[in-house]
Amino acid sequence: MKLRLVQVLCGAARHSILALPYMPGLTAAQSHVGAGDDITLDEGNAAEYVRGMVDGLIEMKGINPWCELCGSRHEQWKFEDAATKFDSLEEALPFLRLEEAKQLVTAKMLKEAQQAARN
Ligand SMILES: [Zn+2]
Repeated sequence: MKLRLVQVLCGAARHSILALPYMPGLTAAQSHVGAGDDITLDEGNAAEYVRGMVDGLIEMKGINPWCELCGSRHEQWKFEDAATKFDSLEEALPFLRLEEAKQLVTAKMLKEAQQAARN
């Protein structure tokens, strides 16, 4: 069994909005994200679950309903569920953190470029 990853992508440009790694069949406590019940994620429900989570985050103003990089609206976002090469979350974490760091660097560079263009 491989760790799976649901990625929320902004649409054609495929900027990563957020990503949720999960182990299929493992039940996770979800009270910390506002859900009433624990949930067992698998390929059949994970993307839909993340869609609900994103809607909740937007409602709570936890995230903006547009892509920070290109401005595409959340109605256009894609939810992709795919297997990773990792056997556990522990094994995947360094890789996931690296991806997150890359996204942050990209966002910073784009913001600086936009500011430079305005000046
Ligand atoms: Zn985007």
